[in-house]
Parts: sequence; structure tokens; C-alpha cells
Amino acid sequence: MNRRQLLARSGALAGSLAIARHFARAAANPFTLGVASGEPSPDGFALWTRVAANPLAPDGQGGMSGPVSLTWEVAADDAMRNVVRSGTVEADRRLAHSVHVEVGGLDSDRPYWYRFTALGERSPIGRARTAPVPNAQLDRLRFAFASCANWELGYFSAYRHMAEENPDLVVFLGDYIYEHTYAGKNADRVLRKHDGPTATDLAGYRNRYALYRTDPDLQALHRAAACLMTWDDHEVENDYANEWSEHLETSPEDFLRRRAAAYQAYYEHMPLRARSLPKGSALRVYDRFRFGNLATFSVLDGRQYRTKQPCATPTKRGGHLVPASCAELFDPQRTFLGHDQERWLYEGFQRSEVAWNVIAQDQLVARLRERTDAGELGYWTDDWDGFPLARQRMLEAIAATRPANPVFIGGDIHSFWTNDLKVDFDASSSPTVATEFVGTSITSDPPPYHLFMGFLPDNPHVRYFESRHRGYVAVDLTLDRMETRFQIVSDRRDPNATRSLLKRFVVESGKAGAIPA
Ligand code: FE
Ligand code: CA
Repeated sequence: MNRRQLLARSGALAGSLAIARHFARAAANPFTLGVASGEPSPDGFALWTRVAANPLAPDGQGGMSGPVSLTWEVAADDAMRNVVRSGTVEADRRLAHSVHVEVGGLDSDRPYWYRFTALGERSPIGRARTAPVPNAQLDRLRFAFASCANWELGYFSAYRHMAEENPDLVVFLGDYIYEHTYAGKNADRVLRKHDGPTATDLAGYRNRYALYRTDPDLQALHRAAACLMTWDDHEVENDYANEWSEHLETSPEDFLRRRAAAYQAYYEHMPLRARSLPKGSALRVYDRFRFGNLATFSVLDGRQYRTKQPCATPTKRGGHLVPASCAELFDPQRTFLGHDQERWLYEGFQRSEVAWNVIAQDQLVARLRERTDAGELGYWTDDWDGFPLARQRMLEAIAATRPANPVFIGGDIHSFWTNDLKVDFDASSSPTVATEFVGTSITSDPPPYHLFMGFLPDNPHVRYFESRHRGYVAVDLTLDRMETRFQIVSDRRDPNATRSLLKRFVVESGKAGAIPA
């Protein structure tokens, strides 16, 4: 690391940078992990912080021991002069001194500012907007979405630029952390090392989240706006499915123990509502959030309830390419979301009253025909292509209930995509029933550009693909149109990376499918 660059880019955060550089040294201010807000409603939002004097203490307790009392304040102004709500909350070792405050009683559709005080020290000030009331006329909403931030492979400049867009809302679509660590022949690719080896237990997952939250760009993004969030696989383990590890020798019982630790650490570090407290190895993250008459976000969970990937080989259960002769692919019992979540989603489509229905989830929805070594058009088993009938059910539900302007947003594949979604991807006459945008990674490695470009002639519903850049997606929504910007950073290895616009798309209300702008 270049110390001068680091200090220059964020003098105010020198404290947390010092922590990142000297893991063992205790800080005077215990708010080393910043603050965050999430799940906005018309009368409030969830507030989060975790006090950690020594965020990477080996026992996962952040250098804290006894209970700590925190005060929280919500103000109507950015200088925190006009405090409109406040309270106290206890933090202790059971949840690694994290707190989740559900603030209510606020006015709808306006910004608020908040902070915490503990041990005689103040946290940074964060900002969050309340949602409009359900039937309010909302003229515009700006949101940005992100996925796949691997600490070891780069700096989080993309997060800094997201914050600078001044979004009303941020959506995290998974791989917020990576549980594994580059080692062996890949170790020389590491730009900044993880805190320790692959996370498998509660202390390991806690410290992984804590490390990521020491990042000044990620802290800035959380201070800038409330977020919605879901996860993908790396919050637990690469390519896991429900109770199944990608490793065939791991029993469901052992894997669920690991998943419980990972889910608890996730809860402890995310601005979820206190009612989301995990029960054993279960944590409900799917939910729906409405913003006046303009938009609803259905946030899905694509990992916890899915059927295991089809046609495992003797050595591999996770993502791999299989031909259509894998009969298990077309078993109608297979589910990506789980039957309860599917029912909940389709009921939401049916009842929708808003102009735009955003479905925020972890993976590529569109069919992607990839050539197998034998030259067949294969199915990647770990994403929606491994669940083709579940995908068809979902798109049929959209075609049947016709929620206004359904738009899927996703991540996982470390590249930008704009796709037309169809009930039947194999029938050229099948109409486009929904639009899909997939964002590239914040830092994680891309799929090979030329190989994937070679797949496009077999996938005419793919309107755009680009994997050579890291970045995020920003969206400006009005009643009439959705304008989507694919934003890229100059270099993931540069802590001062600059931003530029790669590509812009527009979706006109009433017409599924994006148009280059
Ligand atoms: Fe990823
Ligand atoms: Ca993933």
C-alpha cells in the first residue's frame, strides 16, 4: 500500500485506515466499522453499527468484552442540531456488539441524518431517506446496484463513485464479502490480503465482514444512503445450495452449522431490521419495499431454499456446464427460490400497483447457451440455467399477471448484461415479458471476454455484454422511463481510480426490453 495515497484520499478516515494497517492496535473511537441504514419505509428505516475497538481481534469479538450502551439520534438536518428521534440500545458479545435499531415515527419521503454515541465517542454521521407513502406521487428515484467485491483483488473505488452519485437507495446483490482467500499459485494476484484463511466459523465470518467494513469507500457508501440487500454464495461458500456444500464429502448437517455461523455474521453486519434475527441456520432476507406509486423492489433470496445443482459429477456439485441430456435439469420439482418464496413473489406481481416492478436478485436470469467441449449448447448448473422450469414458472407468472414494467437486476457473473427475458427462450416468436440488467463486479475477476462474445450468436435475447471493466450500475427512474447507466472505474488496483460511463440504456414504460441510449 502507498501510505500517502491512502491518507490523501480520505483524511477523515485515517483512524480506520490505521486500524486496517495495524490490526492489533486498539482505537480510541470504537466506531471503526462505520454506520449503515437500510430497509426504508414511509416512517423510518433500520440503523446499524457495531462497536469494535480492535475490529480483527482473533476471537471475532472486535476487542470488546462487557456490554456497551449506545445512544442513537436521528436529526432533520445534516449538522444534527434538530434531533427528532433518539434512544438507547445495548450491545453485547452475543451479537458481537452490533446493534439494529428500527426507527419509526418519521415523516415520509425526506432525508434524515443519524449517528451513534458510545464510550464517550461519536460515530460518523450517516444519511437515509424515508420512502414515500404507498400512494404518493413520486416523480423520480435514483438507485445504484452492486455485486461481487473481492477485497483481495482491488480497492473499492466503485463504491466511492456510487456514493458520489448521491443515490436515494443502494442495492447490494451478493458477494458482498468473499469467504475464501487466494493462496498457492494465486497468492501473487493479491493486492491486499484478507484478515485470515477461508472463513468457516463464526469468528472467521465476523472478521471477514469487519475487514470489509474498515474500507473507507464502503463506509462512505453506507453513510450516503439506505440500502436493500440480498446475498449470493460467497457470503457463505462458493456455489452452495440450500443445505448442500459444493464439496460432496461435506454432510448437510456439517454444512448447516457453517451456514448458521455465516448467516449470523451477515445479520450482525447488515442494516437489517431486528425482526430479521436469524433462527439457527435460517435467516429470511427476501422482502418487498415500495416507493410511492413509482416502484416496488422485490428482493429475492436465490440461495437458501434452492434445489441442489443438477447432474453432479463424482467430483463436482457446484457450477459446471451440462448438456440438455441431463434429465434432472427438467424436473418440474426443482426450485430456485423455494416454493414459499415463489408463491410470495407471484402474489406480489398480482397485487402490484406501481409503475415499475424491480426484482432484485443474485444471478443472471436469461438463458445463456454456452458451448460445451463437445460443441453442445450447455446449461450452467449454478445459475438460473440450472433451474429452467423454475425460471419458466416465474416468467409465466409475469406474463399471466402482467405487473407493470418488470425489470430484473442481478450480479454474480462479474460482467454487464442487458437482456430480453422470455417465457420460452427456445421459441423465436416468444415475446419479451421483462427486461434484465446485470451489473459487473466491484473488483472480482471477469469471465473471459472473447469466449463469451463467441456465445452471443447463440443468444439473440442478449442485447449487450461486456466483461472487461469493473464498476456498478446507476438507475434513474421516472413514471415514463428507466435510464440505466453502466459505470466503470479506470483500474481496480488504483485506490484513486476515476469513473467513466460505459453504456446507457433506456426502458420506455409499457415496452419490455432496453434500448441503447
Ligand atoms: Fe462474485
Ligand atoms: Ca456468486
